Amino acid sequence: MVEQLAGAASTRLRERGLRSIPGAVNSNIRLSAPPVFFDRAAGAILWDVDGRDYVDYVLGQGPHFLGHACGPVNAAVAEACKRGMLFGGSHPLEVEAAELVLEAVGWAERLRLGLTGTECVQAALRLARAATGRRRFVRFDGHYHGWLDNVLVGPVDDGPRPASEGQLAEYLADSFVLGWNDADALGDLLREHGDTICAVIMEPVMVNTGGIEPRPGYLRRVRELCDEHGILLIFDEVITGFRLARGGAVQRFGVVPDLAVYGKAIGGGWPVAALAGRADLMDLFGTGRVNHSGTFNGSVMAAAAVIATQRLLAEDPPYDRVEAYGTALMKGLSDIAQGHGVPLHLQGLPAAFHASLGTPRSVVTDARSLQELDLDGYAGMTADLVRHGLWVMRRGIWFVSAAHGDAELAKTLDRFDAALAGASM
Ligand code: PMP
Repeated sequence: MVEQLAGAASTRLRERGLRSIPGAVNSNIRLSAPPVFFDRAAGAILWDVDGRDYVDYVLGQGPHFLGHACGPVNAAVAEACKRGMLFGGSHPLEVEAAELVLEAVGWAERLRLGLTGTECVQAALRLARAATGRRRFVRFDGHYHGWLDNVLVGPVDDGPRPASEGQLAEYLADSFVLGWNDADALGDLLREHGDTICAVIMEPVMVNTGGIEPRPGYLRRVRELCDEHGILLIFDEVITGFRLARGGAVQRFGVVPDLAVYGKAIGGGWPVAALAGRADLMDLFGTGRVNHSGTFNGSVMAAAAVIATQRLLAEDPPYDRVEAYGTALMKGLSDIAQGHGVPLHLQGLPAAFHASLGTPRSVVTDARSLQELDLDGYAGMTADLVRHGLWVMRRGIWFVSAAHGDAELAKTLDRFDAALAGASM
């Protein structure tokens, strides 16, 4: 029978962890995760230290698009490391990794590797300031671009506010925050302030808040507006890159930015991210005019992981399978919820969709209209889903991987059914 959210071994580890690690987690994002400790993972399945298994829809917050412990990627990294890991100088795998990613994304001419999406966003913004000589940037309500002072925002009412104590509010003064999917609002802002703005940055699909897709024509219109005002367009493809298509959202929607940030799925779960873009911009790093540094950037591990991942994605593209799985999953979850009288609302692309409760009056297009849905109600349900062996996020995002197959689908739907049956008893 399904018992506590966390088993005895997890609970013991958490109590011990609390004495050495603040909150017993190393990322505040995980403060809201159930207090479960994991022992291992393979493919789309996780096992916790109490021996329970979970079908995983968190995928380490997205990186495990190829599934956990991906054999060919891990073997390539282990093999490459036998010859050293960091040289304080260049090595051939860096060149091969850059070439493969540029080939995959199709539009960019240069690439720098970094470690996290957060820092590559900062590199993109610094480059945009340097290239344009302008200071401010435009971002959108509900989009996440990392945890640093100039991009971390709380819920937006009449302007950006810090989301954390200790965060310097004056850094947020350099950004304008608009509702997304509203080209007229962007046009108005740029008419007034365009000559002070270096960049417009966005997730091309707002996966972090509601899995919301761009309205038809929106991305193209943003591109035009940026061009009219000499502003750089930055796509934050940290989630969408290599997930929506091999060439990410750019390939899927056919709109090309000036710079794009990649991370998560780029390297099969290894800690690596990248900034890609136009040669004339990116070469500002190459001449040394703009600084982008990092001891671990382009390590043997990162480069080998990127190469192996990109080869797999090119040789056996999983996109149709992932899309089919996600579509079947969304339908299965909806049908089961309906059977239990639970008003589950699913929206977004099958490879990364969003779950909430309620019925929106019309199509949800931005962070504000998402508030019509019952996000807290869904979050409250997730403890039951976890208890029944589905590892899902409270904030409603479901990530699908290439390792999810028929067995995982059947198991997921059974468990979802059991969780909802238990909840309504
Ligand atoms: N941009 C987006 C769109 C993200 O989803 C994230 C992480 N969730 C980041 C940037 C930050 O990446 P990282 O956590 O690797 O710093």
